[in-house]
Amino acid sequence: MGEELHPLVCSGKLMHIRLLRVSFLHKLRFVDHIDFRSDTVTWPTVAMRKAMAEAAVGDDGYGEDPTVRELEELAAHLTGKEAAVLVSSGTMGNLIGILAHASRGEGAIVGLDAHTFRSEAGGISAFGGVVPQPLSTDSEGRMDLIAIEQAISPDEPYYPRSRLILLENSYGAKNGYPIETAYFGDVKEIADRHGLVVHLDGARLFNAVTALGIEAHELTQYVDSVSFCLSKGLCAPVGSVICGSSEFTHQARRARLALGGSMRQAGIIAAPGLIALNEMVGRLSEDHSNARLLAEGVADIPGVVIDLSAIKTNIVFFQIEVDNGPNSSEIAARLWEQERILIGINGPNTFRAVTHYWVGSEDVDRLVLGLRDILAGWRRK
Ligand SMILES: *Cc1c(COP(=O)(O)O)cnc(C)c1O
Repeated sequence: MGEELHPLVCSGKLMHIRLLRVSFLHKLRFVDHIDFRSDTVTWPTVAMRKAMAEAAVGDDGYGEDPTVRELEELAAHLTGKEAAVLVSSGTMGNLIGILAHASRGEGAIVGLDAHTFRSEAGGISAFGGVVPQPLSTDSEGRMDLIAIEQAISPDEPYYPRSRLILLENSYGAKNGYPIETAYFGDVKEIADRHGLVVHLDGARLFNAVTALGIEAHELTQYVDSVSFCLSKGLCAPVGSVICGSSEFTHQARRARLALGGSMRQAGIIAAPGLIALNEMVGRLSEDHSNARLLAEGVADIPGVVIDLSAIKTNIVFFQIEVDNGPNSSEIAARLWEQERILIGINGPNTFRAVTHYWVGSEDVDRLVLGLRDILAGWRRK
């Protein structure tokens, strides 16, 4: 393998690093910090950067980009749907999916802590006039089936007629819990009985199915549409795909255009997406083992509260409960100063750590030891 010039951002500066072996780069990290805040921080791999440079492209506005078409066909195949549409983000995928299904004034039953309800800037209401009908979820992200059925509002003048049930898997707010297919079957049965459709926010669909030990289509057979991210644990720099029937994707393309999301030579984005699906799904279990290691490591630290049974994919929430102890921001600041580690802060005592391609088990050890050290130091004061 020849010498190659590789652009990398280091301490905020763009640098060009001369590399002798491409294979060598695969495991080498050029960062001066470790980032556990999210799996969205993942850089594209060398193979992805190369594929981007070499991608065959065309005008996707005319449906003429061969790489985009290949990605959309693969996504449709994997989810067992007729067709798929490449979009710029998971948020856009969900918004387009919901706009394609529901009209203004129609209701969407959704978890109170679901990403589509809590973290998408109210887009379904702002742009689609869709009325959220939120329900609480259990510790693994499920809305109660009886509650769902009771929340369905009838087609009478007073009510925002329910049109949609929004599901999420893995469930971000509940440690990325992978919800089992049986639940999806039950929800689909309710939806069918009442003439509703089901949309899945599968931002981390492949984490969920990896943890469940199934193929994606075994889960997505129970939903009418699914959106998944290429740019989280799968390492692509940009992009999500939304899949469903040809009729649905026809509507979705119209919604994508209306929202300004129709792209041109998007093969540049689709090329790393193909690598994400072909080569990165198979290694997600490594991230799950590292999350397990992290969870078990912090569980041993005095003052840490964590529910180990909830950790099944790559997201680990935990609390610090130390009398007169530091809050999560103070601890995070110390982790940064002492270890150059970034971690997610999810409340005054709560952390979120996410494992991904660019953190290894040695980084997990460093986080655990660092945290132990910081908390012990505080206790001695
Ligand atoms: C990240 C995420 C999204 C949104 O994806 P973006 O690409 O960041 O817009 C949607 N749903 C869930 C569950 C997510 O984790």
